[in-house]
Amino acid sequence: MKLNINNTFSKELPADPNRENTRRQVAGAAFSYVTPRIPSNPVLVHVSEEMLQAIGLREEDKATEAFLRVFSGGEVLEGTNPYAMCYGGHQFGSWAGQLGDGRAINLAEVVHNDKRWTLQLKGAGETPYSRSADGLAVLRSSIREHLCSEAMYHLGVPTTRSLSLMLTGDEVLRDMLYDGNAAYEKGAVVCRVAPSFIRFGNFQLLAARRDTENLKKLADYTIRHFFPNIEEGTKNSYVQFFEEVAERTLDMVIHWQRVGFVHGVMNTDNMSILGLTIDYGPYGWLEDYDPDWTPNTTDAQGKRYRFGHQANVALWNLVQLANALVPLVEETKPFEDVLESISEGYHLKYMAMMRQKLGFEIERREDAEIIDTLEETLKATETDMTMFFRNLANLNSTTETDEDGKFLAPVMDAFYQPDEVKGELLKRWQKWFDSYLERLKEEGISDDERRRGMNKVNPKYVLRNYMAQMAIDKANKDDFSLIDELYEMLKKPYAEQPEYEQWFAKRPDWARHKVGCSMLSCSS
Ligand code: AMP
Ligand code: MG
Repeated sequence: MKLNINNTFSKELPADPNRENTRRQVAGAAFSYVTPRIPSNPVLVHVSEEMLQAIGLREEDKATEAFLRVFSGGEVLEGTNPYAMCYGGHQFGSWAGQLGDGRAINLAEVVHNDKRWTLQLKGAGETPYSRSADGLAVLRSSIREHLCSEAMYHLGVPTTRSLSLMLTGDEVLRDMLYDGNAAYEKGAVVCRVAPSFIRFGNFQLLAARRDTENLKKLADYTIRHFFPNIEEGTKNSYVQFFEEVAERTLDMVIHWQRVGFVHGVMNTDNMSILGLTIDYGPYGWLEDYDPDWTPNTTDAQGKRYRFGHQANVALWNLVQLANALVPLVEETKPFEDVLESISEGYHLKYMAMMRQKLGFEIERREDAEIIDTLEETLKATETDMTMFFRNLANLNSTTETDEDGKFLAPVMDAFYQPDEVKGELLKRWQKWFDSYLERLKEEGISDDERRRGMNKVNPKYVLRNYMAQMAIDKANKDDFSLIDELYEMLKKPYAEQPEYEQWFAKRPDWARHKVGCSMLSCSS
């Protein structure tokens, strides 16, 4: 197994001089060296072949002892010094101080085909940042992270990736519902991969500690390696940097809204500086279209991180990042200007995305009204978001609506209670379809062309919550076949793939209120 190791983060930024693995506050440093825990009996569950290739490994490497040991934490790559990163963050709106990689350990950076990748184990034991927790991860959350990061990539959503999923052979104690019923679960380690795992919180913690010198070092480092179009070292470079981070972050959220993804814990320590979806915890996929939905039971009261609120939260988080960067520019106005233009830009981009979902290639003044009314009507009817948009593409543009609802035939399967679509509700749908069909007449394209365009942005297959849960239930019985199957299917989420038709279906009734399907806690 040969990797082209090329470390920059740990080389160019200050290390914590204390090499002991004791929990503590770490000041004046960007990271602490730490060695992963040796697992008692590692077993390879799944490898992403694409990531294997992306980092420069060969197909045959995955079957080697070295691969098993390195990516489960049992062996450190020759010539490397793994480390945990130091960061802080706002959790649910409150400043939480130092958090850091409590259970993530960066192994090394590799460069392959001119691309830089950081390899990071999640669940490989405690670090100086573990606070009161154990540094471990369980199989269920690791399956969810591994499958979802790869699925998101294939959906075209910016995301961290996942190379491998391994069982450690160790047991991990978790109180899954936080109700006093702790139980042992199988321990697992995922190897996450991204150009960098720097978060908003890395900047925030240095700013909170008034460590402007290291704040500058971190910003210059980030710009140098990941924003090469920005000239490093001037005050303006930090504003440009902020602008680009803001744009990437909001673009990421627009993708989430497009595919129906709810992150669940958009704390600033879970916001990647590269605008990647990061930290797959109690995330979920919208089944019934409900902008107020969040899968995270820890957030059930305030629903701060609900689907329809993700852009606002991203902006709030960007304000926190701006505050952290102010000491480098010594002015707030340039950041305020960026924030203002960026939120205007968001609305335009959101509209453009929705137009694509609806198959509009040209822009019309009435589009906003059509989109708003659709969202209202979807909200009023229990409708599967994925199936609705996918099937809407099959609508014949010469359809005439009728009072008995025959015009709804193409999207009927998306309704959870089709019998309830009558009376007033049916009238609302008729009104909406009338305006939509009218609007389609202005498009100079054939139904076929429109369908092809819509099917490129409206996925047929997403990792529905119950699907991940089924894979987890099987894996807990040592059957990993569903992980393989879902992984293969989710590589082509926009393709018809008739062999997987059974997964193009509404959430089954048993999953409606089941833990892991509609409700998830942060316990992982
Ligand atoms: P999260 O919001 O799940 O990304 O986690 C918030 C913070 O808690 C981060 O600093 C994590 O590293 C830390 N953390 C979460 N779970 C554990 C664990 N089992 N052991 C140690 N640290 C953890
Ligand atoms: Mg996190």
